Amino acid sequence: MLKIGCHLSASGGYMHMGREILSIGGNTFQFFTRNPRGGNAKPVDEADAAAFRSFAEENGIGVILAHAPYTLNGCSADPAIRDFAIRTMADDLARMEYVPGNLYNFHPGSHVGQGVEEGIRLIAEMLNRVLREDQHTTVLLETMAGKGSEVGSRFEEIREIIDRVKLNSLMGVCLDTCHVNDAGYDIVNDLDGVMAEFDRVIGLERLKAVHINDSKNPLGSRKDRHEKIGEGYIGTEGILRVMRHEALRELPFFLETPNELEGYEREIRMLKEKY
Ligand code: FE
Ligand code: FE
Ligand code: ZN
Repeated sequence: MLKIGCHLSASGGYMHMGREILSIGGNTFQFFTRNPRGGNAKPVDEADAAAFRSFAEENGIGVILAHAPYTLNGCSADPAIRDFAIRTMADDLARMEYVPGNLYNFHPGSHVGQGVEEGIRLIAEMLNRVLREDQHTTVLLETMAGKGSEVGSRFEEIREIIDRVKLNSLMGVCLDTCHVNDAGYDIVNDLDGVMAEFDRVIGLERLKAVHINDSKNPLGSRKDRHEKIGEGYIGTEGILRVMRHEALRELPFFLETPNELEGYEREIRMLKEKY
C-alpha cells in the first residue's frame, strides 16, 4: 500500500500529528525534533508517545520520520558547532526511543571550506560518537542539492560516510527529489539510470525514505528551492514515476513542498488519485 504524508508541525505532540495526517488523507508524516533553527527541545510527553504508538498501530500509520534541525552541522569548522551537533543528535535519538522503530533524518552538513574529505571524516566521527548499539531508530543521511559547501550531493560522498561508521547497520539514506535534481541526477529523463547508480554506489537496501518535492530550479542548479508538485522542473508525472518505481514504491513518501495543511491535503489527494 502507498505510504504518503507530509511535513507537520510537532508543537501539538505525536497524537496531534497522528490525527492531523489521517484528517488530510495521509498515513505517515515527518516532523522536526525541535525548532528547525536549533535550540532546546521540549521534554518528551511519555503519555502522548505511548498513546501514539497504539494509535499508529490501530490506524495503519506506518514508519514516521523525525528531521534534525537545519542548524545541526557535524562538519562545521567551529568545534562549538560540532559539539552542538553531537549533543543535539544524541538527545534527539534518546527521545526517539519513546517511539521506537522509526527514522531520523539529517543533512550531512557543510564543510565550510575545509574540503569534502574533511567534511566526510567529521560527519562519520559525529555518528561514531552518537550511535548506540541498543538504539531502535535508523539514522538517515539526506541526499543534498550541493548548495555552498554541502556534503552529500554525490552518492559517493554518502557512501563514504556510511563506510566510516562503525555501527552502520543503523544507517540509511533519504532521497530528496528536489535535491537530487538540483545536484544533477536526472530523475525526470533517466530515473532508471539514477536508481541504478544509487544501487551501484550506495546500495538500494540503504534507501529508507523519499522526500517528494518539485524543484524551482533546473537539473544541476545546486539551489535547493522546493516547489509545489507540478509547478516546478520535475513535474507531476516526474514525481509519480518516482513513486511508482519498483526500487522506491514500498518506501514512505514525504511532501516538503511550500504548503500549509490545505495545500498538503490537495497534493496528497491528487497523488493518490493519479498513482
Ligand atoms: Fe531535509
Ligand atoms: Fe528534504
Ligand atoms: Zn531541501
